[in-house]
This record gives sequence, C-alpha cells and structure tokens, in this order.
Amino acid sequence: MQKLNLHTIQNVSTLINDADAILIGSGAGLSAAAGLNYLDQQTFADVYSGWKRKGFNVQYDLMGFSQWTQQEQWGYFKVHLEYVYFSQPASPLYQALFERVKHKDYFVMTSNVDGLFYKSGFARDRFYSPQGDYGKIQCTTPCSQQVWDVKPFLEKMDPYFDTVEQVITSEEGVPKCPNCGGNMFIHARVDGSFIDSVHEEERQALIRWLDENREKKVVMLELGSGYNTPTVIRHPMEQITRAFPNANLVRVNLDRANVPPDLGAKALSVEGDIGEFIHALADAKALNA
Ligand SMILES: [Zn+2]
Repeated sequence: MQKLNLHTIQNVSTLINDADAILIGSGAGLSAAAGLNYLDQQTFADVYSGWKRKGFNVQYDLMGFSQWTQQEQWGYFKVHLEYVYFSQPASPLYQALFERVKHKDYFVMTSNVDGLFYKSGFARDRFYSPQGDYGKIQCTTPCSQQVWDVKPFLEKMDPYFDTVEQVITSEEGVPKCPNCGGNMFIHARVDGSFIDSVHEEERQALIRWLDENREKKVVMLELGSGYNTPTVIRHPMEQITRAFPNANLVRVNLDRANVPPDLGAKALSVEGDIGEFIHALADAKALNA
C-alpha cells in the first residue's frame, strides 16, 4: 500500500498517460470528497433540521429506512433531493477528474446516484449507474418499466410541504404512479422493486467498451468504493483487472485501499484523501505538459 505522495502521483500519472483506455469506478467516497458526505452531522443539522428533531443525525440514517408514513417519507425526500441533486451544480472535483481523462477513451461506472459525473462534463453514453438516479422517480409495484423525471412530482408537493417539520401535510401531496395510482419511490436501489431495465442500455454500452479494450492498456481507476456494496464496483474492478492481460488497477481509498494479493504488480493501492489525489493528479499533468 502506498501513501499519497508525489512519487505515487507520478506513478499513477504515468499509467494514465500511457493508457489506451480508462475505466473509472467510483463509490460514495468520491462524492463525499466532493462535499456530499452522507455521514456529515453539521450538514444534516443545517439542511434537515426537521429530521434532526425527529432523532436522526446524518443522511445515512435514512438510507433504507422504512418505518415512516408516505407523508413523512416524501417530506424527507423532498428535502434530500432538492439538496443532494437539484442544489448541487457541477462539482470542481469531478471537473478536475474529467479534465484529466477527457482525451482518453474513458468509461464510468458508479454506485453514486447524485448525477455529479454527467453534471460535471462526463458523457452520458460513457456512463453506467446501476444503483439509480436521483433525478428520476418510479412506481414501487412496479406496474411498468417506466421512470419519470422527479422534479414535477416535487413541485406538486409544495403547497403541502411543512418547512419546519419537513413532512408532507396532506395525502394530496404524496406522489402517485401516473399509470396505476400506487405508491412511488425515488429511482434508487433499495429493494427488489428497483427497475433495472432502465440501465440495460448503459450496461450494454459498458460491455461493448470492455470488449473493445480487452487486449489494450487499460487503467482501472477506482475512487472511494468501500464495502457497503462491494459487488457493484469494487469486486468488478478486481475481476476485470484479473481478466484483462494489460489492465492495471489503481485503488484510491481513505482507509480501505487494500488489494487482493493475486493481482500482484497489476494493482496499485493508494491510501489517502480522494480530493487531494485528484487535485495532485491534475497538478502532475500540468508539470508534465
Ligand atoms: Zn404503477
């Protein structure tokens, strides 16, 4: 394992310069470094004050939470989506990452649903986000394979939104499926009702990209993917590195940067802050130029 220092950055920078293609795999750690930290108590107290009073301390407490009424659930998600998705423009950190890879044949796969990749310049047709998208809403049954833009649903809640308690005050404000009239949920994977087929086209694009690059020099750049859902990013990044003869894995993580021993010299483990890593990588490029 290497600490984040100039030598490490130069190693990674050389790998990127020499690469034919770059697969970015990212988890919550990247967006946390960009300022969306689901474990940040101060943000929660400031933005989610009504929910703080109800006994919660961080956004992560409400992930997968189910002991609430529809009016409470949608009051929370109205606050959450407006903050995490609609109030967050392009991220300078993601933009710095984009600048570093945009001239390469890149592809992104991420467990993040905040949209920061495509808001910050990354192409939508080089993007796979199997865990969902905070810009969309779906039926919980689901009665069809359709998802809708969430914004009009949030706007319809406005007259019924209690800004102090951060809950919806009437059944009238609760989103209902336009097809069947049933309950809805944000398009983020929490259980079996998640509509996978929405992401099938993205998945096929990734598979084609991988087929094209199988024999090439590929840098697998993994940023902030830990053990919450390792089967989404972390394990596939290892498996692809193993299967591709000329692939190298660069795993950057604050405290979980360990790599499987069998990957040997193909894997570079970098323990450190992802924000610092990306900015140092941008600086290293400027030095090389
Ligand atoms: Zn429905």
